[in-house]
Amino acid sequence: MATPALIDPFGRKIDYLRISVTDRCDFRCTYCMDENVTFLAREQILSLEEIVYVAKTFISMGTKRIRITGGEPLVRKNILWAIEQIANTTGLEELTITTNGSQLYKMAQSLLDAGVSRINISLDTLKAERFHRLTRRDKFQQVIEGIDAVSQLPFKRLKINSVMLKQHNDDELFDLANFALERKMDISFIEEMPLGMITDHDRAATYFSSDDVIETLSQHYDLTPSNMTTSGPTNYYQVAGYDHKIGVISPHSHNFCDACNRVRLTVEGRLLLCLGNEHSKDLKTTIRQRTGDAANDVAQLESAIIEALALKPHKHHFTLDDAPQILRFMSATGG
Ligand code: SAM
Ligand code: SF4
Repeated sequence: MATPALIDPFGRKIDYLRISVTDRCDFRCTYCMDENVTFLAREQILSLEEIVYVAKTFISMGTKRIRITGGEPLVRKNILWAIEQIANTTGLEELTITTNGSQLYKMAQSLLDAGVSRINISLDTLKAERFHRLTRRDKFQQVIEGIDAVSQLPFKRLKINSVMLKQHNDDELFDLANFALERKMDISFIEEMPLGMITDHDRAATYFSSDDVIETLSQHYDLTPSNMTTSGPTNYYQVAGYDHKIGVISPHSHNFCDACNRVRLTVEGRLLLCLGNEHSKDLKTTIRQRTGDAANDVAQLESAIIEALALKPHKHHFTLDDAPQILRFMSATGG
């Protein structure tokens, strides 16, 4: 019997999987997690072999793109092995990663060799002291060294991701855009999402909309909306005089759910159907009940995935006025 295609109840084709390979991180970004965060115990998380198994099952069901994320994916031991296994699976068109950049200075070449085609690097400031405050870690130079290392290699595409917070880093919009464009990288500016309870700042007070980003940058650049899509939620703008683009990710101001093509696997083996809703299905139990009868085991996992898709909600509802509805941090979600 042919493998069923991954179509959700709203007719959206799901061909993009984001996998969080760890909830751990060497940073503590103020908008993402608290300084004192309790990480999952080893027995709660999927092994790399289990992650590869789920990824390969998704690919056999039509998944074309996989993004490896976290937590910080590059701090997970032996992650290169898993990346290589997934990247070389027939049917997958693209394996990408999102990273805070702290390990790139030593892993850039290995990531290219393992089959990573695109890298998103998170960088919210170009000021070392401010970087320390925002990430609660003093690794600015190490991240810049990592960005320099990947810039010299033939990755298909490199992009900077910057979360914009009013009165924290909005004065650096132009400098960050310039930093990326001059290095032949794209850049996306992200509206902060209300994921998890944080104590560092009031999210409603620091909200900086994508419309404000574009309005501010238009004072420096000639921007034209671009029809480029990269299977993520970014709206891109062509910048006159540059080959690379500026994008905005606007979960508040421009709900992007209609074009949603993705689901997320958490490191606990939970399939999340939506970033902004709690709808999810446990796949870990199914994976751990494997009997050794390969065809039957895969069929069980496929059924669980199909059942999960039926739970995919139409859209997320983020609000900054109330306490966060979603209690998991972005690091546990897989951004
Ligand atoms: N550690 C890696 C990194 O920072 O790139 C990958 C995981 S991180 C959770 C993925 C992305 O989510 C980063 O670009 C980060 O800036 C973003 N992020 C984290 N918390 C967020 C929030 N509350 N709202 C919007 N973006 C957030
Ligand atoms: Fe870590 Fe990424 Fe969250 Fe920052 S945004 S704390 S780097 S997972």
